[in-house]
Amino acid sequence: MIWSKNETMSREEIEEIQLSRLKETVSYIYERVPAYKKKMDEVGVRPEHIQTLKDLQKLPFNTKEDFRQNYPTGLFAVPKKELVRVHASSGTTGKPTIVGYTRRDLDIWTNNVSRVACMGGATGDDIAQIAFGYGMFTGALGLHAGLENIGATVLPSSSGHTQKQIMYMRDMGTTLLVATPSYALYLGETARNMGLDPQKDLQVKTGLFGGEGMTEPMRAEMHRIWGDSFNCTQNYGLSELCGPGVSGECLELQGMHVNEDFFIPEIINPKTGEVLPPGEKGELVITRLSTQALPLLRYRTKDISALHYEPCKCGRTTCRMENISGRSDDMLIIRGVNVFPTQIEEVLLAINEIGPHYEITVERVNRLDVMTITVELIDDRLLDSYSSLDALRKKIQVKLKSMLGLDAIIKLVAPMSLTRFEGKARRVNDLRKDGL
Ligand SMILES: [Zn+2]
Repeated sequence: MIWSKNETMSREEIEEIQLSRLKETVSYIYERVPAYKKKMDEVGVRPEHIQTLKDLQKLPFNTKEDFRQNYPTGLFAVPKKELVRVHASSGTTGKPTIVGYTRRDLDIWTNNVSRVACMGGATGDDIAQIAFGYGMFTGALGLHAGLENIGATVLPSSSGHTQKQIMYMRDMGTTLLVATPSYALYLGETARNMGLDPQKDLQVKTGLFGGEGMTEPMRAEMHRIWGDSFNCTQNYGLSELCGPGVSGECLELQGMHVNEDFFIPEIINPKTGEVLPPGEKGELVITRLSTQALPLLRYRTKDISALHYEPCKCGRTTCRMENISGRSDDMLIIRGVNVFPTQIEEVLLAINEIGPHYEITVERVNRLDVMTITVELIDDRLLDSYSSLDALRKKIQVKLKSMLGLDAIIKLVAPMSLTRFEGKARRVNDLRKDGL
């Protein structure tokens, strides 16, 4: 089911709506938010300079730092008494980011989440269990309202109390699960440990996952737990941009459809700010349109993605953003080529003889960048044959060169010889000194 006819408009119609809403948003923000007015004045851009969608590029970027500097509500365009809800993101360092909604903002948000839920296969007949933590986080109440809006029966079970969650799931016949991908996997494991077969004893047919990225191996694991025909999609949002409802995967799994009539996505080179053409990977920047409380221009998400504009088999014409493949902070520039460690990882993971553990070292030798990738073999018997090792090394080099245009020195090492990390793995050592 496609929730809104705006998801199937022609490109001209989408752009017409975007331009009129962009003009309106820029004037609104310029009049009402002194911090934005100051930034626009600094670069000499006034609302009347926005005449085409391309003029968006004249506007300055905004970042999490703007929220910090204007904490708690300095970026709001309405007085507090006009808000009907406030949420916050937990920021890993420092103060949280406070976001607010007027009645109209909540209605738009709810409808955007309803679209995303329908993209992932939700219907009004679903019994939807929401296992996101409720509270200041936007995820739980966002999905809650969006699913109620399409007529689903919502069970606000929140996170934690895993055995009780499974009891509700079984006794109430839950058909749709909202959770982070990792919690969904944990729920499945716990069900098995309780002696239940998730595919026979539970009726969960659809999973709407978010709050963290879902990798393809995680998706494969979801299908092992919940069955081959399980509708397993993820959706994207950030509290600064309202929460969930920015974009979501449809069942074709060709990227996440952006609700383009409310969000204009751009992809930029994170080092230069230059806007990149469709299909190229870079940092996702989003402009939030038609919002009363917290409109936001060119917000740098730091998430790495790419945009695709070909219409999708599902019938939607909205552009699709690729699943997030890293953070812009992680980008390396090697001999002028922008590369994300996750792109190198993709190449490595496609080669059967090597495992998922690797390290990247970048040094400057005679003023040239040299990248060395150390990779663990899956089977140490390979180490006994010089010729097969050499052939494997060459195969990896050729793949890296053809996929990323990069030369690298490949070192193959025995299984279990690289350091393991408990938390976030540190896979990149950049030994170059700036300015040399
Ligand atoms: Zn689609």
